[in-house]
Amino acid sequence: MSTTTLLSDVFGFDAFRPGQQEIVEAVIAGENALAIMPTGGGKSLCFQLPALVRNGVTVVISPLIALMRDQVRGLREAGVEAGALTSGNTPEETDAVWEALEAGTLKLLYMAPERLASGGTINMLRRAGVSLIAVDEAHCVSQWGHDFRPDYLRIGELKRTLDVPLAAFTATADAETREEIVQKLFGGQQPATFLRGFDRPNIHLAFAVKDGPRNQILNFAVARKGQSGIVYCGTRAKTETLSKALSDAGHNTCHYHGGMEAEDRRIVERRFQQEDGLIVCATVAFGMGIDKPDIRWVAHADLPKSIEAYYQEIGRAGRDGAPAETLTLFGPDDIRYRRQQIDEGLAPPERRAADHGRLNALLGLAEALRCRRQNLLEYFGETPGPCGHCDLCDKPAEVFDGTTAVRMALSAALRTEEWFGAGHLIDILLGNATDKIQQRGHDSLPTYGVGKDYDKRQWQAIFRQMMGHDLLRPDRERHGALRMTEHARPILRGEATIELRKDTIKAARGSGPKVRMLVSEEDAPLLSALKAKRRYLAEQANAPAYIIFNDRTLIEMAEKRPMTLDEMAHIGGVGAKKLENYGRDFLEVIAGAVEEVHPMRRKLAGRDEGAVYDRLMQVQASLNRGPHGADKPMSCSASLLAKVAQLRSTDMDHLTRVIGDKYAERFGEAFLEVLENTS
Ligand code: ADP
Ligand code: ZN
Repeated sequence: MSTTTLLSDVFGFDAFRPGQQEIVEAVIAGENALAIMPTGGGKSLCFQLPALVRNGVTVVISPLIALMRDQVRGLREAGVEAGALTSGNTPEETDAVWEALEAGTLKLLYMAPERLASGGTINMLRRAGVSLIAVDEAHCVSQWGHDFRPDYLRIGELKRTLDVPLAAFTATADAETREEIVQKLFGGQQPATFLRGFDRPNIHLAFAVKDGPRNQILNFAVARKGQSGIVYCGTRAKTETLSKALSDAGHNTCHYHGGMEAEDRRIVERRFQQEDGLIVCATVAFGMGIDKPDIRWVAHADLPKSIEAYYQEIGRAGRDGAPAETLTLFGPDDIRYRRQQIDEGLAPPERRAADHGRLNALLGLAEALRCRRQNLLEYFGETPGPCGHCDLCDKPAEVFDGTTAVRMALSAALRTEEWFGAGHLIDILLGNATDKIQQRGHDSLPTYGVGKDYDKRQWQAIFRQMMGHDLLRPDRERHGALRMTEHARPILRGEATIELRKDTIKAARGSGPKVRMLVSEEDAPLLSALKAKRRYLAEQANAPAYIIFNDRTLIEMAEKRPMTLDEMAHIGGVGAKKLENYGRDFLEVIAGAVEEVHPMRRKLAGRDEGAVYDRLMQVQASLNRGPHGADKPMSCSASLLAKVAQLRSTDMDHLTRVIGDKYAERFGEAFLEVLENTS
């Protein structure tokens, strides 16, 4: 079977996602491959499909047990022989995997890296006819990364021992990690490398300045009620208070952080995976290991620590490709907190400088004046145009020439020898004769009272943006006093100008909840009905809902409203196996009672042979009692008709061999005519 046929028949997708096909072809051809694709880009397909084409079994190494079990279940649902050897297995499951391995029927064997420590495993793999090693989350081999897994270092040796090609996948793209992967997994030999774009076009991007942040989050959640979402919080305490607030507002929610018992964390993970519409308020500890494709929104109640962290966290939304939304809140306190975290960390100075750089990139994104996505992707080295799908494309920022204001603020800081924070500096600019100002004689500074064109709120926004543009930095040694950076010097000297936003405060005030829908109002009731059916089937199967069909598939069903199994087969995400298992159930929801269809015919649904079969059936019915209606009734079995439709004989001899003399005499000519006219 061709790769595109497998893609639609087994996985139910009608096209490859960008980048997938090249990778699939290279892996099938037995090349060593390294693919860097963003989260949700569809990495798993890039080893699952080749595994079906290649002889023997593909070993998949992944660090995430929950994810492995999910994938195995998904593959089985699609009719693929897959199994996992993990610590979570029951003895029966493990036995079944070994049996399938010995029988040589297993196509994919998932395994945690820890297994490779045992000599028994290596021997077993040596006998099992492994033809490909696939490594998920390949960056775990990097000793300098956050996700280092020492057992990943054994993979290189496994490859040498088995002497088979290896395909490595990761979403982490920086050049150093890439180099380490090549060294450790490929023994230094450069594999075919695929670097796929970082854009996640279905995710809507938005930032807002904190202004009553709890209400901002509540409003955001209300507008998305019933959809699964994550609220990332900067502290453990906040996960609990926000979860409580959301729950008081009638949402289904829970909290999650690293200080909780392992068992409690697992319960939350499992609930999130299985339930529709649960909100989890979490610290970033809730991350790796969440493989829920239908997370519809991610909100940041506090600013993330870097642009990479931001990208990874929002990237958990919308992995199924259906619309997803994000909102990131930030304020001056966040900026101070994140800077302080870096400065107080134990990293060596060059590392700290790099961390400040990553934070600056995120602040630049937060304070961006034009398309957020453009800004974000430019950081990753891409050069896209404006996206039309972010808050700044939706509503362009109002900007003003902030050069004079910035110079006033810098002057106030410099003339007080960079010993003060924003509050005091603003008092100077506004000419407020506070005690502190009078005591220090700051009312006699030339900058005293020069900033009366702006009010206090506006000055706060200006200072925040100055910190965002890294013109001023809080100094830890001086208890957060603001000090000028080198970036500010050209503006101070009058060699550069700067534009600032004037609308960020107003915007935060004005945005009430606006309900967003996944489908038009007209299709919404049907989508709800389809989801209810899915929930029912998922509960029956004790599986997460998206294993049945993902949101995107249900949305397409609600919009296209297939009325027959053939039409159903053309919906994205409906492969042959799922069509057989669930097609009727969902068709019933859309079209009411469904006409009984012979199982043979169902197998042909969505293919050309289906239509041929139907024609053959008609012709046969008309000849049931012979050309003159006087003969003995006679008809081919459904499976024989299906065979005729599939084999497509072009001459009587061939057809006679397929259906036998008796039937050929009655139906032969008419069948040949059908076959000729439908080819
Ligand atoms: P990741 O790259 O993060 O591992 P996955 O392999 O989990 O991504 O795929 C993300 C989602 O995209 C899954 O829901 C998967 O079913 C879907 N997907 C993958 N390939 C395609 C495709 N060619 N067409 C449509 N959906 C796809
Ligand atoms: Zn945009």
